[in-house]
Amino acid sequence: LTDVKNKDEGFWRLSKLGVPVGKDPGKDYLGVCDALLEAIAKVLEFPVASMLPPEAFSVVRKSFDARKLLKEPKFVYTVDMDVGKLLSLEPRTWDFISRLETKIGIVEHVPQERASDDLISIIHDCKRIHEGIGLKDGGHNIHPEGSYKSPTINKPKIAVVGSGPSGLFASLVLAELGAEVTLIERGQAVEQRGRDIGALVVRRILQSESNFCFGEGGAGTWSDGKLVTRIGRNSDSVLATTGKNYRIEVIPQLVDNLHCNHEVMKTLVHFGAPRNILVDGKPHLGTDRLIPLLRNFRQHLQRLGVTIKFGMRVDDLIVENAQVVGVKVSDTGHELHSDSKMLGYDAVVLAVGHSARDIYQMLLSHKVDLVPKDFSVGFRIEHPQELINSIQYSALATEVCSGRGKVPVADYKVVKYVNGEDGGTTSSTGEKSRSCYSFCMCPGGQVVLTSTNPSELCINGMSFSRRASRWANAALVVTVSSKDFNALQFHGPLAGVEFQREFERRAATMGGGNFVLPVQTVTDFLENKLSATSVPPSSYRLGVKAANLHELFPIHITEALQRSILLFDNELPGYISKDALLHGVETRTSSPIQIPRNSDTYESISLKGLYPIGEGAGYAGGIVSAAVDGLYAGFAVAKNLDLYQGDI
Ligand code: FAD
Repeated sequence: LTDVKNKDEGFWRLSKLGVPVGKDPGKDYLGVCDALLEAIAKVLEFPVASMLPPEAFSVVRKSFDARKLLKEPKFVYTVDMDVGKLLSLEPRTWDFISRLETKIGIVEHVPQERASDDLISIIHDCKRIHEGIGLKDGGHNIHPEGSYKSPTINKPKIAVVGSGPSGLFASLVLAELGAEVTLIERGQAVEQRGRDIGALVVRRILQSESNFCFGEGGAGTWSDGKLVTRIGRNSDSVLATTGKNYRIEVIPQLVDNLHCNHEVMKTLVHFGAPRNILVDGKPHLGTDRLIPLLRNFRQHLQRLGVTIKFGMRVDDLIVENAQVVGVKVSDTGHELHSDSKMLGYDAVVLAVGHSARDIYQMLLSHKVDLVPKDFSVGFRIEHPQELINSIQYSALATEVCSGRGKVPVADYKVVKYVNGEDGGTTSSTGEKSRSCYSFCMCPGGQVVLTSTNPSELCINGMSFSRRASRWANAALVVTVSSKDFNALQFHGPLAGVEFQREFERRAATMGGGNFVLPVQTVTDFLENKLSATSVPPSSYRLGVKAANLHELFPIHITEALQRSILLFDNELPGYISKDALLHGVETRTSSPIQIPRNSDTYESISLKGLYPIGEGAGYAGGIVSAAVDGLYAGFAVAKNLDLYQGDI
């Protein structure tokens, strides 16, 4: 605050400002309403809220809090206060804000943000500084004679394999920094991919290379587009949340500005996402917004000179002297697949996601290290959305109005440890505690088929931006590890993949074929009995069939799921309902392997020139974390290939 007093400027962050639902304009309003000014005045101990100028405040975060222990549900705001502006507009606030010094925990000094700090503007500024075009020093403490090498000749040639969030962000950074990038994607561009998905949902035709997992935008395109991530909030710096300082060595002048989660979100806004994803406590896009965004992303990459090859699959790596020097590819269009071609590159960024099981096999043939890792399996549980609204909001549930109302369509997140110490009870097999949790919850969404092979059934959830469907679905899963894989005689680096495949095949058999899903009501699952043939309706478009899902997984997994459902019902009374339907099977929650890489260079520790990134390599779990991994990888590869000389 002393700083502020001297300079007459600065930003202060005020958090935990509660506004009761009745006084708030609703979830879509991101301005400063009168009730928010009242909450601010209370914190500032300023007597007349209406005298506070709204223009001195900006909302940086807004979430909805309907926890049962609250007297009244409320919106909770975080607000940045422009002290200079506030004092110029309302000088009488000074005495009051000086008292904030004592209110530790309520306010926090935040650096002033640049007007536009999406990734693209930041890289452009850095380049301009280093090329000596204006912006010298620009307040960023840059040495004017920096060593950025404009790569007009001998541009490094880089193949980025996979156009999911990690591949797109890696391509963006590399292309902006001047590399010659080819983005190779086995699936189709969103326009054709949309038609292929339509044919799957309506006519049961599964294109093995263009589906819910493969194609432009990766696995998250036909999704709920949730942008929440466990590596931080949308307004957070990854630097702060992970304590990682790799970027400092790579590109120091970015560090001040590169709050990576935030930069990923701003870059999405640059490509057409609504600005409220920067502020919303639980940001999400929905499929209808993801598709035009991806088209804009694609056009930007093409303007930068990126060659994008849809319908082309990487089948193999070309390795010479223990170094990757290119890839073998084949066309995957709707006609017969063509003979393979060889393409030469200086580096290959592998961003293939975790459904590209053929790629894991191919990497093993080159003796690339693959390490099995824990993941989770279970079912997708679906309730009527109205039921979840009423469990979460009670009387306020009527305010949801199919996504058009004042409060957001209700979601939930539950996690419990079952069996052993934490669960209190022991399973019949005497096994240790396991984590059971809900995951990737899609309010107002639908269950979709994410198989890439007709003999295997696996599912996930998607929604549109309004989340207006009658259904609420979520994965309900339990952690599994090498012990589980070995128990079924699956060993070696791909044991987890075999384990997934085993249950995907069992689910396909239980469903009876034609992509029909095996289902069971939650009540019958708990009682180990077959559901009546007329199960409750499901959002899944390709049909469901009553089945003994309690017999699908090994007994200890089934028991862990059953115990967790009982515990979840304590937290969300009504969760166990005859209208709640379990769908089989949810197996691809995260990657079953990790490809070890150097933590500074991002290069595989067992094969030079190969850069494994994103979810498939075991370094991300979700859209934003995959994008952030791609972003860092882009800088790392650029540095390794001498696009920059040393630290710049
Ligand atoms: P991917 O997105 O999987 O992209 C990999 C790309 O590589 C694919 O396009 C694939 O076609 C391509 N590829 C694979 N092999 C080859 C090859 N040999 N040659 C060329 N190209 C290849 N996450 C969230 O955070 N929020 C959500 O709401 C959400 N919902 C989801 C809903 C669904 C239906 C699904 C399937 C996933 C969802 N996820 C969600 C998870 C999220 O999509 C992934 O975590 C994320 O996409 C991983 O990004 P990635 O870039 O690592 O890989």
